[in-house]
Amino acid sequence: MYIEKELCQKCLDCRPVCPMGAIMLRNKEVVIDYETCVECGVCRRINICPEGAIKQVDPIPYPRIIRAIFSDPTIRHESTGISGRGTEEMKTNDVTNNFVEGKTGFSIELGRPGIGAYLIDLERVVRQLKKMKVEFARDNPVMDLIVNQETGALRPEVLGEKVLSAIAEFIIDENRAIDFITEMKAFLNRELDSVATMSVISRADANGDCRFMERLKAAGHDLYPNGKVNIGLALA
Ligand code: SF4
Ligand code: SF4
Repeated sequence: MYIEKELCQKCLDCRPVCPMGAIMLRNKEVVIDYETCVECGVCRRINICPEGAIKQVDPIPYPRIIRAIFSDPTIRHESTGISGRGTEEMKTNDVTNNFVEGKTGFSIELGRPGIGAYLIDLERVVRQLKKMKVEFARDNPVMDLIVNQETGALRPEVLGEKVLSAIAEFIIDENRAIDFITEMKAFLNRELDSVATMSVISRADANGDCRFMERLKAAGHDLYPNGKVNIGLALA
């Protein structure tokens, strides 16, 4: 994204809408900082500029297009057909049944609006997950970036790209899950410069109790439970 200098009236109306703080005054011009911008498209989509000065390079060249694919919710990931972060694995578990009894689902999300994440940090996480022998979720766009399934190396040309957020999803046996969380928490704190959120997906029983949550508490982990009911429409 860029601002066409000749059209811009320097009103700065566009500055607050950018979730990354990429729109700024520089040498008395309003500019979009090329490195900070994740190509989420918000500034252009909401038509905030009365002069039509906010422009998109079209098409966005590869590998920069990866920023838009992960950050612009109007773009669908080719590999999953889903827009935004490109996955609905957890939200549709009652249909897919991926996280069954005895298995624990996990996600590790890197980045947040205002912070973002570089894909080199995502690669660090994926490499570590490969070492820890987790089973990666199938319908996740991160899989499409992996070029070496043994090591977890991502396409080298995308490592310098920054996205609003990216999420790795995987499954491990429940009996390994507590030790995994302890080890992974230490890894994330030690190795990452970015913000990361680790989520655990576990089913409640018929009474609404979640055995795994109790085990986590007993192991001394801080929990922020987030119950979710997704109501879908069935086609006859
Ligand atoms: S809203 Fe348009 S005219 Fe105003 S500062 Fe932004 S780009 Fe320039
Ligand atoms: S595309 Fe998104 S990140 Fe880039 S300047 Fe516009 S709002 Fe900010």
